[in-house]
Amino acid sequence: MKPDRHEQIRSLLSAYLDEELTQADSQRVRLHLEDCAECREQLAQLERLKQLTGELVFPDPPEQEWEEVERRLSVRITRGVGWMLVCGGAVGLLIYSLVMALLHWRPPTVREILGGIVLVGALLLFFSVLRQRLLELPHDRYRRVKQ
Ligand SMILES: [Zn+2]
Repeated sequence: MKPDRHEQIRSLLSAYLDEELTQADSQRVRLHLEDCAECREQLAQLERLKQLTGELVFPDPPEQEWEEVERRLSVRITRGVGWMLVCGGAVGLLIYSLVMALLHWRPPTVREILGGIVLVGALLLFFSVLRQRLLELPHDRYRRVKQ
């Protein structure tokens, strides 16, 4: 076997695998492969590589998208429940404190005053964050569509 022909065949292997060769070239490669174990091995390697890259280039997109949607949804739900608990708890505590103060009026203790200040501060922070998130919502949606 002449070495130049051997190299020539190797340069054709990739196209042979993709069935892009002319009938004559394809025949030449086939004949060479019949008595060249080295080139057969080369072809097998190319085949494996093609399979691997094929799997990488064409993953199952719908499934991947669903996982992404599910992940986003679970993050949103967790965050939403978190905010609801913080907000509901804070409002509830505020109402309870007011009712108790009205029912059993007495001068508030320092601890109660400080607690009230912290509570009002937390509520202000919460509503400012909530307002910001509502303002960012259209932008958020646009970004999601772009992805
Ligand atoms: Zn060969």
